[in-house]
Amino acid sequence: MIGFNKPYFTGKETDYMQDAVKRQKISGNGHYTQLCHQFFQKKYGFEHVLLTHSCTAALEMAALLINIQPGDEVIIPSYTFVSTANAFILRGAKVVFVDSSAENPNLDASTIAPLINARTKAIVVVHYAGIACNMGEILDLVKRHRLFLVEDAAQAIDSFWEGKPLGSLGHLACFSFHETKNIISGEGGMLVINDPAFAARAEILWEKGTNRSAFFRGEVDKYTWVDIGSSFLPSDMIAAFLYAQLENIDDIQQRRRAIWQLYFDQLQVLAEQNLVQLPHIPAYATNNAHMFYLVCQSASQRQSLIEYLKAQQIHAIFHYLSLHESPFYSVLHDGRNLPQTQRYTDCLVRLPFYYELSEPEQVRVCEHISQFYLKNKVMAS
Ligand SMILES: *Cc1c(COP(=O)(O)O)cnc(C)c1O
Repeated sequence: MIGFNKPYFTGKETDYMQDAVKRQKISGNGHYTQLCHQFFQKKYGFEHVLLTHSCTAALEMAALLINIQPGDEVIIPSYTFVSTANAFILRGAKVVFVDSSAENPNLDASTIAPLINARTKAIVVVHYAGIACNMGEILDLVKRHRLFLVEDAAQAIDSFWEGKPLGSLGHLACFSFHETKNIISGEGGMLVINDPAFAARAEILWEKGTNRSAFFRGEVDKYTWVDIGSSFLPSDMIAAFLYAQLENIDDIQQRRRAIWQLYFDQLQVLAEQNLVQLPHIPAYATNNAHMFYLVCQSASQRQSLIEYLKAQQIHAIFHYLSLHESPFYSVLHDGRNLPQTQRYTDCLVRLPFYYELSEPEQVRVCEHISQFYLKNKVMAS
C-alpha cells in the first residue's frame, strides 16, 4: 500500500525532547522555543515570531490582534481549511467568501475589489500548496482601503513571492507544523508579527493576558493581568521536536522538491492532452513542494480515479469542501456562485506525498494514473 502521508522523522527529535526534560523546564517559552524563534528570525528575517499549539491558534490570535468585532467583514477564500474562517467567526465576523482563480486554487485577486465596503476589516489570503497568491494586486487593495492583511501560510513554509518569504507580507501570518505539513511537530504552529505595533500585545495574548514574558526579561518587577488572552504557547517538548525538523529543513525541502518534479514530469503528457490540470506556479511564486495535486474533468471522473488507484493499493485523497456551501455557513453566505471553488471542491485530487516516498513507488502511481486515462480511454472534454 502506498499511503497518502507518512510523517518524516530526522532522528534527532526524541534526543532533543529528552534534553528538554533534562533541562527541567518543559512548559512554554523555554530553551527550544527560543531556538525555534531564532531560527525563523535568522533564516527568513521574521522579526517577531511566537510558536503556538497550531496554525488554528495562530489564526485566532490574529483575529484578536486586529480586534475583529461583531459585524466586521473579512474576505476569505472559500476553498480552504475551516480554521481560516473559524478564527474570525469566533470573534463575530461576517465572512465574505471569494472565489479561486482558474489557474490554481489560490483566491482570484481580481474578484476582491467589489466585495470591499465600509465594514470590511481584513483580507485573509491562503497560499494554497505553498504557492504565493497574487500579492501585488492584494497588497495594493490592502493599502488603498486601509485593511489588515493576514496570511494563512499553513502550507507555505520556505516559499517566496517576488523573492520575499511567504509569511512576511501580511500584518500577521500563521504557519502550521501539523503532521501533514512539510515541517512537523505533530500539532504545532506559529504566528509571525510583521507589524511591530502588534508585537507587545501578541506576547501578552500568548501568555494568558499577562506580561509574564516582559517579567522574565526583567522589564517589569512583577507580572500581572494586563489584557485578555489565552494559553497559546506550546510545551518546550514540542518545540524540541520542531527544532530537530528545522535543523534539517534544507534536506527535507530538497527531497520534497525532487518528488514534486518527478510527478510533474511524468504527468505532463496527460496535461498536454487536456486530460488533467496540473499545478500552475506563476512567475512571481516559488514552489515549496507542499503537495502534488491534479484537477480532474468532473466529480465522477475524480471518484473513479480515486477508486481505481485504491484498487492498485494507492491512497489518493480529495479535500476542501467549499466553505460557502458547508452546513454551517451556507445559510449565512450571500448566495454568490463561486464556480472555480466548486470545480476544485469536485475535481481536485492529491497524490501520495512524503519524504520517504521512493522513486519506483512514484513511477507506479504515475503509471496507474496514465493507465486510468489512456487505457480507460477517458475523453478529453
Ligand atoms: C493545515 C492548515 C490549517 C490548520 O493548521 P493546524 O496547525 O492544524 O491548526 C489551516 N489552514 C490551512 C490552509 C491549512 O492547510
